[in-house]
Amino acid sequence: MSSFKDYAIASEILKAIDEMGFTEPSEIQAQALPVLLDYTGDFIGQAQTGTGKTAAFGIPLLQKLDKTSKDVQAIILAPTRELAIQISEELKRLSKFKHLKILPIYGGQDIGVQIRAIKQGVQIVVGTPGRVVDHLHRQTLNLSKIQNFILDEADEMLDMGFLEEIEEILSNVGPQRSIWLFSATLSREIRTIADRFMSEPEEIRIQRKTATTEKTEELYYTVRRHNKFEALCRLIDHTRDMYGIIFCQTKSDTAEIAEKLVQKGFKAEALHGDMSQAQREHVMRKFKSKGLRLLVATDVAARGIDVNDLTHVINYSLPQESESYIHRIGRTGRAGKTGIAITLVSPEEQYKLRRLEGTTRKKIIKSNIPTLEEIMESTIDRTIGEFEDALSNPKGFDRYFSRVDPILKKYSAEQIAQGFVTLLCREILEKYEDDKELNVPDNFGQSSSRHPGKRDQMIELSINVGQRDNLQTGTLIGRICNIAGIEGRKIGRVFIQDDRTTFKIDPEVADVVIRKLNGVKICGKPVTVQHNDPRFKNLRTMMHKKRSDRKPSYKH
Ligand code: ADP
Ligand code: MG
Repeated sequence: MSSFKDYAIASEILKAIDEMGFTEPSEIQAQALPVLLDYTGDFIGQAQTGTGKTAAFGIPLLQKLDKTSKDVQAIILAPTRELAIQISEELKRLSKFKHLKILPIYGGQDIGVQIRAIKQGVQIVVGTPGRVVDHLHRQTLNLSKIQNFILDEADEMLDMGFLEEIEEILSNVGPQRSIWLFSATLSREIRTIADRFMSEPEEIRIQRKTATTEKTEELYYTVRRHNKFEALCRLIDHTRDMYGIIFCQTKSDTAEIAEKLVQKGFKAEALHGDMSQAQREHVMRKFKSKGLRLLVATDVAARGIDVNDLTHVINYSLPQESESYIHRIGRTGRAGKTGIAITLVSPEEQYKLRRLEGTTRKKIIKSNIPTLEEIMESTIDRTIGEFEDALSNPKGFDRYFSRVDPILKKYSAEQIAQGFVTLLCREILEKYEDDKELNVPDNFGQSSSRHPGKRDQMIELSINVGQRDNLQTGTLIGRICNIAGIEGRKIGRVFIQDDRTTFKIDPEVADVVIRKLNGVKICGKPVTVQHNDPRFKNLRTMMHKKRSDRKPSYKH
């Protein structure tokens, strides 16, 4: 086990780290610190969300800056105001004994206030790209003395369309600066920025088998679209002390779901971009202090949220991009804690799950929405626990105890307990009206067991794009589905080699896949499809034959 003391970190910063309760450096910290402490070159650091990238650059940055100079010596760009605030908070805590002046600047806050704060002298600016550009245009922020330029969560900034702003800011900074870029993923666009603005960056990538954290259990539930809300309520009712974020696609969805949850008796609130900054901060504070346990949010609104002990992340609807999924579920299972990520999918959306699994390289496990019976059982168990807890701590409620005397005289202990259970169960029945089955059987993933032999009949195709072009399984499956208009379950094993990729495909769609895929660009490269399967020439005859000798039990 390593310790922060093993690195050349100044004692004033070590003391702050200690007060923050960090005992051991995370992997990215352990690898980045020796490089970045006392380093003036460029740097790229990649590690998944929640692994402590802020301190990985924060510690060396704070150590290096001169507290006697009033110039802005470092700028950190972050995708959202929440993140900018969060990073500046973490840096302030780290510099508790070094007293550097750190200022977050972001849209939505009065620019006059920011201008005055800058004038008073700040050494580190943490800003969102849009607002920083605004200051540059007004000439209220001088970046000529910048020594360190940090792009944090670079992938999210690019996702949010900040490329132009980033380029503009970078070209305003003198050549003496070093650029450090941190990101959960390294895309082609990030490489382009690196190539244009950085010189021979040191690179540290924390490789992992899966793109998501091991500490997060990923589950999915297949339910019809119109049953999703009831499924959500059941899951919340069944879980003890859920503390989580429910992700929706649109702002209006978040408002609607939050309102319906409140009607059902859950304490939930929405967080979305149409709310004022003050409203958002109010909701965030309540959520962080756990006064509010369910937050219903869009991806953009939830970007900045740093809450470490979320028990659940719920995908009420699937995100458009696999990257969003990774970011969403990165909000749980953080800082060594375990978490559960739940995805509700409708049968039509299931192919998207496979695409996700392709990207994250981790299986999402099928699970079942609890029946009312199961919810009653868990509620009774939970209440017994709370009951015992209450008895051990009656907190001055004893003056009400005599009100139950009539019951005590009339009924036995057993009857009283039975009445108590009945009330609990009734409450659940009233909430749900009827115990309908919400789970829908899957139509993918098990095809090999349900249709024995089908997978073996798959045809192998290969294309001239591979690892070298940064091709990923998820991207390939997604592109094939889109281009050929087929479902993900028609695609079998994908094997990415250095310069080519082979994949299996259902013979029924092999023809259309070959036709549509030939010539299109994947990862910027025109695709040539090859098929080595001798059966392919006689595909139609083969399919015809197979159909006629299918067993009667074979249903499609
Ligand atoms: P990332 O930027 O990689 O998503 P953050 O820098 O936001 O991750 O860190 C996630 C959380 O982990 C923060 O609350 C941070 O304070 C905490 N953290 C960072 N480093 C450590 C450490 N070495 N030990 C314990 N907690 C840490
Ligand atoms: Mg971060």
